Amino acid sequence: MLYPHLASQDPEIHAAIMAELARRSEGFDLIPSENVTQTGVLEALGSILTDKYSEGYPGKRYYGGNEHIDVIENLARDRAKALFGVTHANVQPYSGSPANQAVYMALLNPGEKVMGLSLSFGGHLTHGHGVNFSGTFFESHPYSTGEDGWINYDEVEKQAKEVRPKLLVCGTTAYPRALDFVRMAQIAKEVDAFLLADISHIAGLVVAGVHASPVGHADVVTTTTHKTLCGPRGALILCNGLPSMPLKAVPKTRENIPTLVDRAVFPGLQGGPHNHQTAAIAVALKHAASPEFKIYGAQVVKNAKKLADALMALGCKLVTGGTDNHLILMDVTPFGIGGAVAEVALGKAGLTVNKNTVPYDPRKAFDPSGIRFGTPAMTSRGLVEKDMEFISEIMHAALTHADDETFLAALKTRVTALAAQHPPYIDL
Ligand SMILES: *Cc1c(COP(=O)(O)O)cnc(C)c1O
Repeated sequence: MLYPHLASQDPEIHAAIMAELARRSEGFDLIPSENVTQTGVLEALGSILTDKYSEGYPGKRYYGGNEHIDVIENLARDRAKALFGVTHANVQPYSGSPANQAVYMALLNPGEKVMGLSLSFGGHLTHGHGVNFSGTFFESHPYSTGEDGWINYDEVEKQAKEVRPKLLVCGTTAYPRALDFVRMAQIAKEVDAFLLADISHIAGLVVAGVHASPVGHADVVTTTTHKTLCGPRGALILCNGLPSMPLKAVPKTRENIPTLVDRAVFPGLQGGPHNHQTAAIAVALKHAASPEFKIYGAQVVKNAKKLADALMALGCKLVTGGTDNHLILMDVTPFGIGGAVAEVALGKAGLTVNKNTVPYDPRKAFDPSGIRFGTPAMTSRGLVEKDMEFISEIMHAALTHADDETFLAALKTRVTALAAQHPPYIDL
């Protein structure tokens, strides 16, 4: 039995975990921010490290007994630096949102101006949305995409010249196209803003060399570790500059970014780092540096392009008419349904996606016009281009029969047959 101690100590939680594993095994997760980690990552995450306190940084701790924790955090930092080609990495942020919060705290004073892609056009909550800290404690001037769904860099430049933000944010959660970090860096320079590249969704593609890297262009790079990077939940903050001196207050200049970031993470925002998570991040970074990972990242993009082409061949309407990355946005209104109904219908067919707004969406966020999906988790389970034909047929069939429970159940049987050949955790 899997997790036998848990089964005896807490049968209710054990049962729910087993049910979740079964749910995933019977279908495919197409949510583009999700993935399947290696079992070594899961083991590090479930290890005894969770019991240790180690506020501070390697060699500069506020608690004793941290000699082995220092080894782990140094390995994670060194692997992150080598993988992304930066001189400084902070591996302690609890997740992507706190990592961005730390960057704001490091570089800005409260009330200063930020300019990021609006949430309803594919940006993230932490890029200046009104209900988030980033739009509450800072003055947010979000930019949009064009009517065609593409970021129009000339428009971003025009707006940046009017707004003169202190921080320009380049990063997306629902954008199917490659980002132009070189152009964003030019714009930031023109208006004397810091540039934050938040590559949470695409970090694995950057590492695999199938998306351009922001390193050398952005002042700071943040990424989650649990999306295309295939790691545990967590985040990295990557930058270049003078060596970090976390015990010293320094002015908010570019060369001081490593120190500013370290001080913002701890003691600015967080207390003790999650050492089990740091260890699991280190394991994931080792995997991400392997030759297989390059193949994986390239396959994620090949699968997404294939899935997009196959769906368009079936008449589906995709935002921007395709994808450059791991993600696809589809307008489902031509099927006579909204995103909420589409999400439920696909779920019944064994494919998990999420409802999402499309640019200039006339519908509301809780029932928008679109769905968002992608290939990172399916690719981790070994699906290749020919399987994308199958997935596209199932998706199209489910969307055309969204109210036919029997039909959807029959589709799920077919999906489960393929899923059974590609279990999410082979060696669990
Ligand atoms: C996922 C994501 C985040 C936030 O990550 P959490 O771990 O959910 O807090 C931040 N920025 C972008 C671009 C993301 O895609």
